[in-house]
Amino acid sequence: MDIIVATRNKGKLKEIKELLKDIPVNLLSLNDFKNIPEVKEDGFTFQENALIKAKIVAEITGFPVLSDDSGLEIDALNGQPGIHSARFSGDNAKDSDNIRKVLDLLGKLPEKKRLARFRAVACLHFPDGKTKFTEGTCEGKMIFAPRGENGFGYDPIFMPKGYKKTFAELDETIKNCISHRAKAMEKMKKVLKKIKDAQ
Ligand code: IMP
Repeated sequence: MDIIVATRNKGKLKEIKELLKDIPVNLLSLNDFKNIPEVKEDGFTFQENALIKAKIVAEITGFPVLSDDSGLEIDALNGQPGIHSARFSGDNAKDSDNIRKVLDLLGKLPEKKRLARFRAVACLHFPDGKTKFTEGTCEGKMIFAPRGENGFGYDPIFMPKGYKKTFAELDETIKNCISHRAKAMEKMKKVLKKIKDAQ
């Protein structure tokens, strides 16, 4: 079975491929389909945005589509940047700009007030309209200055609960066990297995 992962983000695609490597499906990505336009993610929740992306790609290609929408929720910022994580500091924002904005907003707020979580919603959508959602979260805190080179996005300033390293310092095999996306994809694996078994 061919499934298109609705992303052009190479970091995310690499993680999703690794997370689903035991399932006998062929994962393509938007980088394999040059004619798919940039999708406007104008939903109000991660779930809505995941479905918006998946539906458009399924309509254009006729393939089943796996999408995910994810982001960082910082308690002291009332859940921001949330669904706006990718473009928190403006359109075409670089990861470093978004990180700077978060650190500026948090200022010198003490460690215990810097609680946050990553949230991911995965969506598997079929051209016939059938849709399944799964969700995962990873609790942690925002540190005071970026540390580490791995991963992408806010990884250098997010320290998962129970660890003394940021996501960008941790080995990717550890991130892939504990991350929000790992948890959502672990549940999606079960959904995919059921579908494969029923074929
Ligand atoms: P999406 O591609 O619309 O889901 O955007 C998600 C955005 O949230 C990314 O561009 C990152 O800024 C942030 N994000 C989501 N997951 C992660 C992660 O695992 N590490 C760091 N940042 C993440």
